[in-house]
Amino acid sequence: MSVLPGSCLSGNVRIAVRGDPKRIGICHCTDCRQESGSAFTYFAILLRVGWGAACTTHR
Ligand SMILES: [Zn+2]
Repeated sequence: MSVLPGSCLSGNVRIAVRGDPKRIGICHCTDCRQESGSAFTYFAILLRVGWGAACTTHR
């Protein structure tokens, strides 16, 4: 089983997900273009179980 690391844009919140995504893709909607500052953004749909988050600003 794979572990996928990730974080928010500032790096203050880090996540780790166990297991494979149920679906991955890209979105070209206005919100995603604005959020990413590009023509599209990537997303993944994951099971609720198997992930955890940690805030690195409040250690
Ligand atoms: Zn979108």
